[in-house]
Amino acid sequence: MRYANVQTAIPGPNSEKALELWKTYEADKTGYQAQVAIESGKGAMLYDVDGNAFIDWTSGVLVTNIGHCHPALVEAVREASGKILNVYEYCNPYRANAAKDLVDAAPKHLDSCFFLTTGSEATDAAARIMKRFTNNYEIVSFFGGFHGRTLSTASLGGLKKTKKGMGPMVPGGIRVPYPYCYRCPVAAKKETCNMLCLSLLDDIVQANSSDALAGLIVEPYLGTAGFVFPPSGYLPMLEKWVREKKIPYTIDEVQSSYGRTGVMWASSREGLTPDIITIGKGIGSGVSVSALLMQKQMIDKALGKGELGSTYGGNPVSCAAVSAVLKVIREEKILKNAQTIGEIFRTRLAKLVDASPYVGDVRGIGLVYGIELVEDKKTKEPAPRLTSQLIDLCAQKGLLIGSVGVFGNVVRVAPPLVINEAQANESIDIMESCIKLLK
Ligand code: PMP
Repeated sequence: MRYANVQTAIPGPNSEKALELWKTYEADKTGYQAQVAIESGKGAMLYDVDGNAFIDWTSGVLVTNIGHCHPALVEAVREASGKILNVYEYCNPYRANAAKDLVDAAPKHLDSCFFLTTGSEATDAAARIMKRFTNNYEIVSFFGGFHGRTLSTASLGGLKKTKKGMGPMVPGGIRVPYPYCYRCPVAAKKETCNMLCLSLLDDIVQANSSDALAGLIVEPYLGTAGFVFPPSGYLPMLEKWVREKKIPYTIDEVQSSYGRTGVMWASSREGLTPDIITIGKGIGSGVSVSALLMQKQMIDKALGKGELGSTYGGNPVSCAAVSAVLKVIREEKILKNAQTIGEIFRTRLAKLVDASPYVGDVRGIGLVYGIELVEDKKTKEPAPRLTSQLIDLCAQKGLLIGSVGVFGNVVRVAPPLVINEAQANESIDIMESCIKLLK
């Protein structure tokens, strides 16, 4: 049985109509994507308004971890929304239960949570907590880091596209290189580098800090900057550095948690014990909700009553979703599937490097991979034009992919974690055949 089924040239006539309407009335500032209007989704599949069926490698930017429109999630949202939509600061059972469920699923050292609405809000709140906790203001963050698009979160990030033309960012930020080994920031050889970038980090902080460090924020892998994974051992060494400085630190797991890397928390892969974990995306699997995980004593010391909140944070519908998603993850063994199917992706995608003159690097784990496209393997010149070509070619054959990367030249491989073996193999077949057509 084949899952992908595309009968029309993309965009089909109905998609064309919807796209025209959309682009006329809303300023489309999304990145380059396939020209389709999606009408529905189920599991790892998406369907457009022309009846075409696509295997999804985007999960709506790593959101729908338990699959599109999981019936248990849809039912939980339906049930809650029929009872109560918003009560802001009053306690409601959905919020209370979701908080317990989330803390039960959290790394053991974190005993408290707080609900917000978006990943950006969670980042902002984490920064505020670290500042108030230490009574200091300098936050260390990373080249290529992405923590949101608001001005304060863009300040913490290290990407031009969120900063260009914005003038001075929030003062006190110190940005340091991330170990992007394919394009090493210190041009070292991976085998012999001895984590040179980490000593550089220390030098940069020494040179820039006025001895007012409030904390550090880091992604366990750079998401938006191109699915860049640090070498194993880097993050524990970074944690050691943070502990020596006696500052708190936040791991931004907005996209890396909830099974994306094959385990619940990417930070637990190497036994990290961050003071705060920010989460979003997958925790609602399509419903807008984000949260902070931390120690109660930290938040209680940092902020007083009325100093953290958001109109839609902890709303009953989102919280019903949080509990439903966690239940599905447990009962349907979603993490196991991410590991098993992830192995198929890992082994088959790795072969693309030798199979194509344009695939410079493939990296990832579980169900998150980046395929970095270059014009030339020696010069490593980024090839964003090929990413766009590939997006169109794949869509025509029934596979939806997205692009990321500092240069926009990395294919985002992040299917819903419920993707089955046949869908995995069929979609990788499509990718293999389309990569051969690049020119
Ligand atoms: N942190 C990370 C690591 C992200 O990937 C994102 C979104 N791409 C955010 C924060 C911001 O989340 P949101 O778009 O929900 O504000």
